[in-house]
Amino acid sequence: MPFRHFGLGDELLLAIQNAGYTRPTPVQAAAIPKVMQGHDLIAIAQTGTGKTAAFVLPMLSRLARGYRKNGPPGPKALILAPTRELAVQIMENIRTYGKDLPLRVAAIYGGVEEDAQIKILRKGVHLVVATPGRLIDLVGRQQVDFSGLETLVLDEADRMLHMGFLPDIETLVADLPRQRQTLMFSATFPREVESLARRFLQQPKMVQIGKRSDPADTVDQYVYEVSPHLKGALLLELLKQPKFKRVLVFVRLKDGADRLTVFLANAGVKVAKLHSSRSQEQRLKALQDFKDGKVQVLVATDIVARGIDIDGVSHVVNHDFPVNPEDYVHRIGRTGRAEARGEAISFVPRGDLNLLGILELFIGERLERKRLRGFDYHAVTPAASQDAGSAKRDWRKRTREMEAKKIAKPAPRGPKKPADRRDGKPGGSKQARD
Ligand code: AMP
Repeated sequence: MPFRHFGLGDELLLAIQNAGYTRPTPVQAAAIPKVMQGHDLIAIAQTGTGKTAAFVLPMLSRLARGYRKNGPPGPKALILAPTRELAVQIMENIRTYGKDLPLRVAAIYGGVEEDAQIKILRKGVHLVVATPGRLIDLVGRQQVDFSGLETLVLDEADRMLHMGFLPDIETLVADLPRQRQTLMFSATFPREVESLARRFLQQPKMVQIGKRSDPADTVDQYVYEVSPHLKGALLLELLKQPKFKRVLVFVRLKDGADRLTVFLANAGVKVAKLHSSRSQEQRLKALQDFKDGKVQVLVATDIVARGIDIDGVSHVVNHDFPVNPEDYVHRIGRTGRAEARGEAISFVPRGDLNLLGILELFIGERLERKRLRGFDYHAVTPAASQDAGSAKRDWRKRTREMEAKKIAKPAPRGPKKPADRRDGKPGGSKQARD
């Protein structure tokens, strides 16, 4: 169904056209009509499928039409997202699609001064995009009043629960009007998300794009078996290939991100880093430099990289293997977005093989193994094992020859004469045997 059949309104259709979208993605085609009809919705879709527009477009359409013209003042719609980066990205989507609409929007997230956010809220806004932590703070201090709210969106619900936002979400939702439309988006649908949906949504419609927990179909995935201390060197080796144009590298810890960034920079790679100890300004700059192609590599931890939308990521590298299988799905969803193919490479030292096994059970497929000679943890590489095989055969042959000689000519007693040794050096019979 083309966009014009959704009844979104001319301003939005023009914005969609300007964005260069010719047809809705599967999640948009499935979700937008249901949201436009006013249903609650659970959508299981990963980032990269166009899910943001699937809720932003109908929400803007409804706001633009002034659904309840004489409603109380205050925000009519609230979008909750797990991280500031995702909130900023949703804001960017809203600005793109809603640029011809007279709507006021506030982004409420931590890590920046709250005064400016409070000022915007006081002026009155139609729409709030927020992370739960900062918002609950402002709600507690009565800086924002959601009594006129009509639409609630929980984006990346599974991630919000993983990050421990459940109590905050419960407190926030308890104060919202019961009569509202609630949309929940999640990459996966574990039991906790199902339970959240049962409590917060009313007779929801369900949209599921792809299998549950299925990594995007547009990503080629494989693993490198590598010794832990050679991961950096292997990454450098891979980065030499021209196809590694825009590479997002995931690490587990902040200081790991710092170390790897220094290592790559010292080797002449253009690299930026993204983790939670960096200021909001530094994070946005790192993202922008990566988006603009000023750096080839962005090194990131999971928390900040979740849901970020960067076009043209050619490769995702799991430099540290993710502990949580759902993080894997999210990480690799940064490439192969919006119908472009991407590659996801995971470095798997021997100590992480159990995590790889758990992941393969989770995604229901075995990932292709690769090795680069000189980098893997196997005692011998396939090529080297041939050498080792022939060395073994030579050794056996020499041993047999020596044994034969010993039987034919027993070793003389007493010290050997120098002429007995092949190297010409003096030595005893023990040395000769060894
Ligand atoms: P999302 O899953 O919302 O993070 O979107 C992933 C990417 O798909 C973003 O860069 C969007 O701009 C892009 N996108 C969204 N809808 C469409 C569409 N209908 N056609 C092409 N690209 C789209």
